Amino acid sequence: MIFICTNRRYSGSFSSILVFITFTSFWNYGDGVGLHREGNDYCYSDPECGPDSDSWGDTCQTGLRQSPISLPHRPHLLPDVTALHLGSYRGDAFRMQNNGRTVHIEFLEQPNHGHGPRPQNHRPNHLNFVQNGFPIHAQMPFPFLGRYNREESSAYYKFDSAHFHWGNRDDVGSEHCFEDRCFSMELHLVHHLSNYDSMSEALESGDSNALAVIAVMLDVTPAAGHGNPVLAPIVNNIFQIEESSHDEHVYINQPLDFSPLLATTSKPFVYSYKGSLTTPDCDEQVNWFVFKKPIAISHRDVHAFRFLRDSKGNLLRENHRPIQNRNGRAIFLSAVKPI
Ligand SMILES: [Zn+2]
Repeated sequence: MIFICTNRRYSGSFSSILVFITFTSFWNYGDGVGLHREGNDYCYSDPECGPDSDSWGDTCQTGLRQSPISLPHRPHLLPDVTALHLGSYRGDAFRMQNNGRTVHIEFLEQPNHGHGPRPQNHRPNHLNFVQNGFPIHAQMPFPFLGRYNREESSAYYKFDSAHFHWGNRDDVGSEHCFEDRCFSMELHLVHHLSNYDSMSEALESGDSNALAVIAVMLDVTPAAGHGNPVLAPIVNNIFQIEESSHDEHVYINQPLDFSPLLATTSKPFVYSYKGSLTTPDCDEQVNWFVFKKPIAISHRDVHAFRFLRDSKGNLLRENHRPIQNRNGRAIFLSAVKPI
């Protein structure tokens, strides 16, 4: 979860806001690419159900804050002080599912006392950041600058699940791109606001801050050798979910920890902006946090995903939505410093 603590030393143009992201228990939300509505027949490559078809209707076509987008080289730099606490994204075991559109992952156990409003800084895998630069007026990319920053100081984001996007070549596959540079895969860590009991409740609330997604670019490079060890528990077991299923999960009794992907440097940068789900119904209720530094993976890593099959038995080789219009939205880039 992301915990938002309005420890607000409000003086002039500065605010101090703490965001804690820690692990929380899994729960199940249908069979979407993490998030799509039940029964929707959308797809990515077939013109009859692809992104330009009626299967991606309504908000997907008419919305003004759609995702993904191309992130600029020169975004707004955030001027104020914010603390960003990222908790552990580790599970002692996990379950994964091929839902016909992605690999959906949920942790099965609380790793280390992850509940409670404030994560313990000494916990393994707890990432404790101060984020420099943050405007405090309206139109903020972060939810805690909406109504939550004052009245609901205990609000936070709960981690729900993870899933991936990829393509049929190593130079495409991510949903977000940096200017014209796209990557081989994109990992999404999906959260919902703690005010709601579930993902579905958060979405149905209509709350524009209902969800937060952390995105990590995964890029094939020789530096990854035989593969990224973070993904190994998934890649080594992915053959078990070759066929898609709406209700079957494979339980993997091995630890899985995404945390190292968020701490590759002592000062990572994060893009943020207000966007949408990247799958129908494309609800415009997502605050995006896109880590700037791509993570090295091997060709073998991404290749393993390309042998999954969709609900029609076809190889699932493309599951990334095209870039959407930015429509003048503010895009922020924050340097994230260790406290
Ligand atoms: Zn996604």
